[in-house]
Amino acid sequence: MPRDVRKAPHTEVVPVVVVSADDAWGGVAVALPREPEQAGVGERERLLLVEDERELAEMLARLLAAEGFAVDLAADGQAALHLGLTRSYDLLLVDRRLPGIEGLDVLVRLRARGVVTPALVLTARGSVADRVNGLDAGADDYLTKPFAVEELLARLRALGRRHQDAAQVVRLGKGERVLDLATRTVHGGAGPPVELTEREVQLLALLARRPNRVFSRAELLDLVFDGADGGGVVDTYVHYLRRKLGRGVIRTMRGAGYRMGPMGSG
Ligand code: CA
Repeated sequence: MPRDVRKAPHTEVVPVVVVSADDAWGGVAVALPREPEQAGVGERERLLLVEDERELAEMLARLLAAEGFAVDLAADGQAALHLGLTRSYDLLLVDRRLPGIEGLDVLVRLRARGVVTPALVLTARGSVADRVNGLDAGADDYLTKPFAVEELLARLRALGRRHQDAAQVVRLGKGERVLDLATRTVHGGAGPPVELTEREVQLLALLARRPNRVFSRAELLDLVFDGADGGGVVDTYVHYLRRKLGRGVIRTMRGAGYRMGPMGSG
């Protein structure tokens, strides 16, 4: 499958992989692996953008990269299927009208293969029937072209959040360990399962669901501890979690607060 890796001018640190199955973009055909993950890149949310209109695709890829997403770009349905089945993403942004396999078919096929990644479908058509078809195909949200960039970004953020909040199993950073909210245990990775207390679960789940966000002590105090006792209780619980799960599970952001550790472990 021909591939082309290009770097958009404003996204030097974020590799944007463009994959086209049928030379749709003028025969650009270079096979290159994704660059080794640089510091920080592994923490980005990964988004698969499926769009055949080159100018729009490149504009969106730059924009999303600037918003902090690690973007892979597929120029047709075949390439989208290939990437969607072989790599893991946090979000899918799929144009409906594509050469070859159309966008909704891509989604149906990915869903049939167990890919549950939240998907926002872009379409030029906005009728009720199209919308229903899109949702039936496994789209989580739907946006009609032309759209305002702010609306696209807001919907993507909301989609990511809804997905995260509904999950009963939350991944810790980009590592192998997960937090199971039902059993209050952390498992996966090399060590044995680790049991947590209710407060520890609440604190860890909050950080893990927004791995790219820094929470201030005041926010954590308010969200997890109902504002009780003063900020010291936050530090105490961070200490408990680090003792149980390794120092690197939570990162201290000097002067700002805490965030999830990139690998969710020591
Ligand atoms: Ca299109």
